[in-house]
Amino acid sequence: MEVVLKGEGVSPGIAIGPALTFRVNTIDVTKRKIKNPDAELARFDRAVSEVRAELERLREQTALAIGERHADIFKAHLLLLDDVTMREEVVRFAREEKINPEYVVNDVIARYTKMLSSVDDPRFRERTQDFVDVGNRILARMLNADLESLDKLEHPCVIVAHDVPPSDAARLDRKNAVGIAIDAGGPTSHTAILARAFEIPAVVGLRFVGSYAMPNDTIIVDGTRGDVVIRPTQETLAKYDARKVRETRAREALMAAELKPSVTIDGHKVPTMANIELPEEVAHSIRVGAQGIGLFRTEYLFLNRRTLPTEEEQYEAYAAAVQAMNPAPVTLRTLDIGGDKIAGALPQGPEDNPQLGWRAIRFCLEKPDIFKAQLRAMLRASVHGNIQIMFPLISGLDELLRAKNVLKEVAADLERRGIQFNKKIAVGSMIEVPSAVELADVLARECDFFSIGTNDLIQYSLAVDRGNERIAQMYEPSHPAVLRLIRRAARAAKAARIPISVCGEMAGDPIFTEALIGFGITSLSMSSVAIPLVRAEISHIRYSLAKRFALRTVRMGTGTEILDAMQRRSKQRSALEEYLDMFSDDEHDSDGKL
Ligand code: PEP
Ligand code: MG
Repeated sequence: MEVVLKGEGVSPGIAIGPALTFRVNTIDVTKRKIKNPDAELARFDRAVSEVRAELERLREQTALAIGERHADIFKAHLLLLDDVTMREEVVRFAREEKINPEYVVNDVIARYTKMLSSVDDPRFRERTQDFVDVGNRILARMLNADLESLDKLEHPCVIVAHDVPPSDAARLDRKNAVGIAIDAGGPTSHTAILARAFEIPAVVGLRFVGSYAMPNDTIIVDGTRGDVVIRPTQETLAKYDARKVRETRAREALMAAELKPSVTIDGHKVPTMANIELPEEVAHSIRVGAQGIGLFRTEYLFLNRRTLPTEEEQYEAYAAAVQAMNPAPVTLRTLDIGGDKIAGALPQGPEDNPQLGWRAIRFCLEKPDIFKAQLRAMLRASVHGNIQIMFPLISGLDELLRAKNVLKEVAADLERRGIQFNKKIAVGSMIEVPSAVELADVLARECDFFSIGTNDLIQYSLAVDRGNERIAQMYEPSHPAVLRLIRRAARAAKAARIPISVCGEMAGDPIFTEALIGFGITSLSMSSVAIPLVRAEISHIRYSLAKRFALRTVRMGTGTEILDAMQRRSKQRSALEEYLDMFSDDEHDSDGKL
């Protein structure tokens, strides 16, 4: 029977293939009495040094493939490997109780895992996986056991798992792993980051995929929408096959025409930009024709590490991105930490409602040293190209003014010290809290641009935690309230004559392209893999009709009705085009008011 699961799409695209059910390795270990503790301990030490060499190798390979920062995780593994507690216990039990070392290793892993996973703080829970990973490597060496691994897959398949440890994700067979569907994780998990970097469609946060899918079951992974279909019916398969072909064709078509501006049929320009997490992604963004970086999620420079990035490190990352993109703009968003993004190096404690808690600009305003170092790095990098600075999670004018004042202080200080920076740097606000939409006219007076973060705007306007898989079906981008909020923000931006982009996931889903353009969104910023698709869509849209269609959507009552209309429209678009010439004289701007 067909099973449809909703998760979080963290790497766009559609994958269809047989399931490869991957289980985090567990190795059977029996307890036995040993006669020669010295020989047994030598075996343990040999295993540890072999694992050390293996981890060093993995660290180097990962650094080469996707950058030094992602390789840091193996540094953490190496530290765990040198954990003295484990060795002390192994030595004590071997000498005093004559118990085999692998049994003690296994026992230590089990105890640590239990302890770490019962802690509320997600940073500790994250460490559990690392600990199991390292422990299993030692056991496999000691017992000559083969660990299940994903680096050499025999044929194309969809990886289905409760979780994929970082070391396995980093070594993924990129040719044969066509899709990823996992229960655990969120968009900031290592697996999600790597899936995006490898361009493998992926859905995380599925909760039960590991129990529903059997080996070799056909699986559809829709990384754009966050859906996974297990054992699809012929009808579903045909639907996804068609969508996959359409997406692939559109992507290929646009890849071939990558340097063309993204323009509607009737000549309305809507630049398509890339969202990036790391400067290494700039090169790919340029290849797919990104006309700028609409969102640089700078918090990724702070994740997966134990110390804060220095001002110099940040400066180098921003300068590299802006130099590579020059003269196209790069929008650097200031640190958006908190919520589901936890950085080990930052002082964030557990919170009851982290999404409503000490996040983003709220954190930065209370940690001026961290905030100022980042702003200094951004301003210094502004001499290398076209940088814009954007503040996340702004909920009102006072917050925006406070953030701008800190920026002014930093600018004044640089000026005093004779350090060059762009004094006319554009400063903008994310619009992702409903109160910011309500106050958009007021905020616009203080901003050079707006960018709508639909991921959070949906979460806060519909009161649906974006990371909670239980209520994922309620997280509805096509909800009429969401569309009305977008429309209102766009109208405020237009009245204030400032540009307004969308940089949430909706910008990368072609189903929404027409409505967004119709609302008056002036640019779209998305994961770079989605750019070809969205550009293809833009080139099939007529701006004058988009305005009418957008108005029609906000008059509808439910998200399902709107989505149906969008889907029908998208399907009909090419047929409609054949008749457009007949109607073109009748078109007029009917931008009515709500
Ligand atoms: C958003 O909220 O839509 C957004 C772009 O920011 P993030 O996903 O990083 O919260
Ligand atoms: Mg956001």
